[in-house]
Amino acid sequence: MSNALADLLARRPWLLADGGMGSGLFERGLESGYAPELWNVEHPDRIADVHRSFALAGADILLTNSFGGTRHRLKLHQADGRVAELNEAAAQVARAAAASVRADIIIAGSMGPTGEILEPLGPLSIDEAAAAFAEQAQALVRGGVDALWIETLSSVEELEAAIQGAKTTGAPIVTTFSFDTNGRTMMGITPAQLAELHRRTHIYACGSNCGTGAAELVASVASLCAASDADAILVAKANCGIPRYVDGAIRFDGTPELMADYARLALDAGARIIGGCCGTTGAHLRAMRAALETHVRGARPTAATIESLLGPITAGARAQLDPEGARLAAIALAEAGGGPTARAASPRARRARQ
Ligand SMILES: [Zn+2]
Repeated sequence: MSNALADLLARRPWLLADGGMGSGLFERGLESGYAPELWNVEHPDRIADVHRSFALAGADILLTNSFGGTRHRLKLHQADGRVAELNEAAAQVARAAAASVRADIIIAGSMGPTGEILEPLGPLSIDEAAAAFAEQAQALVRGGVDALWIETLSSVEELEAAIQGAKTTGAPIVTTFSFDTNGRTMMGITPAQLAELHRRTHIYACGSNCGTGAAELVASVASLCAASDADAILVAKANCGIPRYVDGAIRFDGTPELMADYARLALDAGARIIGGCCGTTGAHLRAMRAALETHVRGARPTAATIESLLGPITAGARAQLDPEGARLAAIALAEAGGGPTARAASPRARRARQ
């Protein structure tokens, strides 16, 4: 299968990915607990409306409304027999919405976690998970996607199963982890470990999405870039600020100005595909596009730069960005009496880059 994503990226320094599909659908009446994938056939006009809002704001890449489209997730809504129908529809709706705006928009098939814990910690075998991802991936490709986009995963086992399933189609593969737990995924994986996985699996691109805010996300991309090969294609897709519970619903308070700062820092951090995740609207994307069009990529940002523009980052993320600083801080703490020893954060071999 040809790689339209690579062809477009060969002509451009960066590509703008889209914003938050889920939050766009909640704005259009989706009830919490209802499967958004059912709307691909029940309300395709509303799905297309979200896609168009992103495309009109300048998005180069649209992700299909199929995040929960594996049979395991659809089973929660008694729709596990409709994987083919709902994923094909997701691809077709996105493709038609994109075509109504511009000809050169990439459609990527979103594939989220199964929601099950994989062996050896949980009941789902790698083969079962891979088969479920393959079923979804094949439907997305039949529906016409240019690439498959495995997102918001947190375990290496599930990511490997998803890649195995996606590879049955021959489509280019992008994967992003959510580093939402003190610089790691919920299952303890670091950006450096994702860089290693990227190298080993020969997928097209990898990166970071969702999680706990733009500052933390940029920190994860900077650490990922430091551990990646110089020509690795990296992705940043941050939530629109920090999620907060307001009146029983999750809201995101990031302004277009904050997301513009985020987009510039994500480019500096090494991402070439930059978008938003939950809470990111067309207005945010428009500000991000304007920021990227006038920005010349600068040096990889330090923790201090990220914090000054986007807000605080966790100690875990900071230690990955600056292992030597974390080691010295630990020594100082130990010498001051007690505290964790300097062994906690040994310096990591750094690759000379640019
Ligand atoms: Zn998100």
